[in-house]
Amino acid sequence: MLTSFSRRRLKNDGGVGLVYMLHHICEKNEKLIPTNEDLKVSPAFLEKIILRYKRLGFDFMSLDQLNEMIQSGLPNKRPFVAFTIDDGYLDNYIYALPVFEKYDVPFAVFVATDFIDKKAILWWDCIEELIMTHESVTTSDGKTYPCHTFQQRWNTFRYLRERILNIDQKYLEQGLNEMFAGYCIDWFGPIKQKGMSWSQIKTLASHPLCTIGSHTVSHPALKILSEVEAEHEIKEGMERIRQIIQQPVRYFAYPYGTFHEIGEREFRIVEKLGIQLAFMAHQGCITSVNMKNVARLPRVYLKG
Ligand SMILES: [Zn+2]
Repeated sequence: MLTSFSRRRLKNDGGVGLVYMLHHICEKNEKLIPTNEDLKVSPAFLEKIILRYKRLGFDFMSLDQLNEMIQSGLPNKRPFVAFTIDDGYLDNYIYALPVFEKYDVPFAVFVATDFIDKKAILWWDCIEELIMTHESVTTSDGKTYPCHTFQQRWNTFRYLRERILNIDQKYLEQGLNEMFAGYCIDWFGPIKQKGMSWSQIKTLASHPLCTIGSHTVSHPALKILSEVEAEHEIKEGMERIRQIIQQPVRYFAYPYGTFHEIGEREFRIVEKLGIQLAFMAHQGCITSVNMKNVARLPRVYLKG
């Protein structure tokens, strides 16, 4: 796991800096499903990481500064770190913003517009809730999954996750309702509680430390879509945000972001649309070589 880079470690990897990828900034709950908890970083941990890089003498860069550096072709004099947060969760606004403000550190939020429109199904939260409140879960095909112990709950989550990932995402709600017909689940409950509002996005967009980037409309695995659909997801997401925040949107992060979900076709679309920097979830630091591939910049998953 590439969480913390010393100057020497960065140099050994040929790196000039790194871009962190985060999702939730809030307290972790060790009783809940680890797969979901891994997406959380506590505000105290974020603070610790910022202080560590300050001590190490790294520069904190905004995406505009990173873009300028890449355009110039010259690596920053000092090693740098940039923070990016994916999806558009409310905790970014409540807990992450005050930490970044406290240390005057720039950050970016990559927004999937369906999250803000409260149209996204955070099925991983719904399934966690189901598992945590039942002794066992029985799917419509009669299969029963036990939920007594912590290990059973985690195993059940992983089995169900595997099955849900096989549902055609275009018919996700219908597929979920069919799979869990014996339960009354509000699939849109979690996003209503956990998503940011457009007014909060606007506030962040006008904040000097924050850059808003795009993360598609519905957060799909782009590779399984047709080319027209994939381009629409990317273009429409950017355009919608641009209209609302009344600022250019230059930066993008691929949903899921590994080579399972994206490939050459997606890189081509991003270049065609003139997106200036596009980030993957592919692990790695920014090097003077890979920074030339602006449609496929690596990031480092911050786990704490
Ligand atoms: Zn995402």
